[in-house]
Amino acid sequence: MTCEPVASETRLIVPLTQTDAAAMREAMVAAASAGADMVELRLDYLTDTGDEALRTLLTDPPCPVLATCRTTAEGGRSQGSDGERAEILARAAAMGAAWVDFELASMADAGALTGADRPAALIASTHDFDRRPADLEATLAQMESSPADVNKVAFAAAGPEDAWAAFDILRSSAKPAMALAMGEQGLASRVMARKFGAFGTFASLTRGCGSAPGQPTLDDLRTLYRWDSINAETTLFGVIGCPVGHSMSPAIHNASFAAAVSNAVYLPLRIEPGADNFNRFIDAVLQRPWSDVVGLSVTIPHKENALARVGAGNVDELARSIGAINTILVTGDPGQPLVGINTDYAAAIDALVDGMECTREDLDGREVAVLGAGGAARAIVAALAYYGAVTTVYNRTASRAEQLAAEFDGSGAGAGSVKAAGFDTMSGEFAEIIINCTPVGMHPNVDACPIPDDVHLEAPTVVFDTIYTPLTTRLLQRADDGGCITVSGVEMFINQAAAQFEFWTGEPAPRDVMREVVLRRLSGDKP
Ligand code: NAP
Repeated sequence: MTCEPVASETRLIVPLTQTDAAAMREAMVAAASAGADMVELRLDYLTDTGDEALRTLLTDPPCPVLATCRTTAEGGRSQGSDGERAEILARAAAMGAAWVDFELASMADAGALTGADRPAALIASTHDFDRRPADLEATLAQMESSPADVNKVAFAAAGPEDAWAAFDILRSSAKPAMALAMGEQGLASRVMARKFGAFGTFASLTRGCGSAPGQPTLDDLRTLYRWDSINAETTLFGVIGCPVGHSMSPAIHNASFAAAVSNAVYLPLRIEPGADNFNRFIDAVLQRPWSDVVGLSVTIPHKENALARVGAGNVDELARSIGAINTILVTGDPGQPLVGINTDYAAAIDALVDGMECTREDLDGREVAVLGAGGAARAIVAALAYYGAVTTVYNRTASRAEQLAAEFDGSGAGAGSVKAAGFDTMSGEFAEIIINCTPVGMHPNVDACPIPDDVHLEAPTVVFDTIYTPLTTRLLQRADDGGCITVSGVEMFINQAAAQFEFWTGEPAPRDVMREVVLRRLSGDKP
């Protein structure tokens, strides 16, 4: 047997799916120079699997090679019989492929690949592109008693909890293993493979050219998800939301953990709407304390579900009155496993008072106009009332403004007043402080402004736009032209990320790093 010894390091494996051997060879060289530890040659993609093509691929390969030839039923393109595919793999092994992957269900027909003097180390695999199989443990038991050297299961993830089920497989397999929850929701299984000592994880060379749903790129794994620093002690953080792919939080928090030399990784965790879906994931986390989840950010549509799950007694006073939290700490204490806070209101209020060079308490008695009555407005209005401001909520749908005003009028410690007014009643000098909590003026509608042109914005009015794309909205530009103090939504965004970091770690947040990442992302550059 010519197999390489099993390394303790989890390999970064780049699958190659070119249809022509020369192009696949070129991609192999590119993958090796980009840092791949191994390539997977998908021989089922090749239009020609003759000796000449295999020699092109396997003569002096630039990195170790895993060869596979998958059937259409297992997500591949080969129409060949089990025997024909085994024969192609046996030739690849004889020419230098150190590893071959063959389906568990076809193992009886793998011929020489399973013999005692087999030409390459053998991976037994199963794939389910529809769901997580109910009988994963039974499949694993079958793999354990097969002749294979490595076990591999891959299945479609319906939620991030399926990645935690993949961790179970990695932990219980006696042989080196790979357990991959496919799709966006299974990302954690790919990134955290290294924490659980997996044989390898798959990453594509460029975006969109992966061989299975949800494969990150090599570059994402290395530069965004801190692959090289992951080990058994790495703690896990993430942002729960739907959608969540656009979120800047992974870039901000991973850069912050790197700057703080913290052994932690932060991932996007897509959970479909619904309290049941949210709770299923939280259950999976709490049942597996060894997965070392420490902190979770929560965004739309799960902020209310998060408060319900964490429990009103385990969150701060303002979060309770807002009815939503965006930050969870997993404590490890069975008596109080989760605690939560709402960093949105504090982030907004602090952005405002920093811009005004005053304190939260100085908001007492100030006249504030809040435009909008949605989630952001709700957190801000609650905080304004708490600090004693005199607030008017202007909203397109008047009934929502009235509801919000009724709920928070005279509420909280400072008992500020809150009243409602129609969106079209804004005229003249209507407030000392104006806060836009609508998306009007947000990219791509950058010429829009929530305040009519005939309303003059002049010093000493303070104008805070919660929008951060673009950084300078038309509203802020008008306010600046009129000499007003202006506050950008980006300050609120950084404040909420910093407050989360500090809540989770007890350390000061690296705000400069956060700001740099946000500004770089907003200017179109990815870290
Ligand atoms: P939301 O819950 O959907 O509420 C949107 C609000 O905007 C509603 O009151 C809605 O009025 C109003 N609105 C929507 N389109 C409008 C239009 N064309 N004209 C007038 N009013 C309109 O959203 P949200 O979560 O509160 O977010 C609102 C904005 O806050 C976002 O666009 C975002 O830019 C900003 N935000 C910023 C941060 C940050 O960190 N900087 C964080 C969160 C949110 P109706 O009630 O009539 O529908």
